[in-house]
Amino acid sequence: MSRKSSTQFGVLGLVAIGFLVGYLVASSDQPMVSEAIAAADDDLNQEPEVSPTKARPSRETYYPNTEDLAPDEMRVVACGTGMPTTRAFQAAACFLVELGNGDKFLFDCGSGAAERISSLQIPYNYLNKVFIGHLHTDHFGSLHDLFIGGALMGRNVPLQVWGPSGPTEELGTAYALDHMRKMLAWDIACRVGNVDPRGYRLEVEEFDYKGENAVIYEENGVTIRSFPAIHGIDGSVSFSLEWNGLKFVFGSDTYPNKWFVDYAQDADLVIHECFIAVPDLVAKMRFTPESALQVGTQVHTAPEAFGKVMSQVKPRMAVAYHFFKDFDTAAAVHDRIRKTYDGPLSLAEDFMVWNVTKDEIKTRMAVTEEHTWAPPLASPAQAPRADDKQRYAKMKGIPIESLEFSDFTKSGYLDVDDVLRPIYEEASEAVGKKFAYPGDK
Ligand SMILES: [Zn+2]
Ligand SMILES: [Zn+2]
Repeated sequence: MSRKSSTQFGVLGLVAIGFLVGYLVASSDQPMVSEAIAAADDDLNQEPEVSPTKARPSRETYYPNTEDLAPDEMRVVACGTGMPTTRAFQAAACFLVELGNGDKFLFDCGSGAAERISSLQIPYNYLNKVFIGHLHTDHFGSLHDLFIGGALMGRNVPLQVWGPSGPTEELGTAYALDHMRKMLAWDIACRVGNVDPRGYRLEVEEFDYKGENAVIYEENGVTIRSFPAIHGIDGSVSFSLEWNGLKFVFGSDTYPNKWFVDYAQDADLVIHECFIAVPDLVAKMRFTPESALQVGTQVHTAPEAFGKVMSQVKPRMAVAYHFFKDFDTAAAVHDRIRKTYDGPLSLAEDFMVWNVTKDEIKTRMAVTEEHTWAPPLASPAQAPRADDKQRYAKMKGIPIESLEFSDFTKSGYLDVDDVLRPIYEEASEAVGKKFAYPGDK
């Protein structure tokens, strides 16, 4: 090799080393990106067998009732992530927690949530435990839909509801739900004698809103605790659920508070309200600047404050909800959170799903059934008993006649017996049992 060519080789070699060093420096600046690319590459290499005719499970979408829950797994489904101003795209606050031991719990049941719940097609006997964080309609406004609709769709056990006391008896959960029951007096009275009556029972457990990490539920290896929140007036709380080494935390509404930071420590999935950015409250909700500042920063948790809370809690996954998530509002919420928090984050919307195990938290969206019918029954329905109305009238201390049409209303009957009677005959023949036409002996 001549001296000239060896010099050229030396120069080329230095340039090559320079590129290599430059590349390594650039790569080490972005470890997250290269890790993500490597992970995606691994996924591609593990692509399941592809066939033009065979089904293969989607790894990107959750289709309810197509996946087993592992014994050590927790699944959380957002059944409402919005606000008190109702909209079709987002129901108000509601999160379903499903555990690998078979237990299921609902946290809040805000306006519109019952239809999201029904689209998951879960037997209603499994959906009978609801924890309400506070008594705003966007957190319990769909409870009467779950109560009545759930009974009609197969729940034949009582609906159990836990909720906080208030500063006075009239501002507590027991008072509110006693009056919900009274509000439904006509609704329920109409159903007596027509359908299985067992699901129309409500059991309410009111606990002290001042309890600090107080155990309010302990059964089957599941412990649920309550701690105070700061929202509206006294009587708002947040919850934690611990099971099998996993911890879920749900904040109903609150101004950032010390209890949440203390008692959400070591949690896997932490859900906390995060309100819409103040400028959008003015532009989109048509609030005055004064109201926007008050509601967006003092009544609720501003995105920047949400980030500050999560920076102190350091969950495996932080979930922000309680804002309308649109193409032109989500970026502002995200950017403001990122000023104060750089950890794992989900900006929730309805039907977002988190599968939580000790090894992994997988976040996906569910595709659900919109044309919902009743889900399968966890235990068989009973036909109404002949004396259901007598029993109900006696229990309520009301005259039995109030459960029958008056002569006045009966005088309005149109004679359609000739077309209804064949329906009974058809049913009798199909089932092999004589169904007597009403009024016939
Ligand atoms: Zn509220
Ligand atoms: Zn709210």
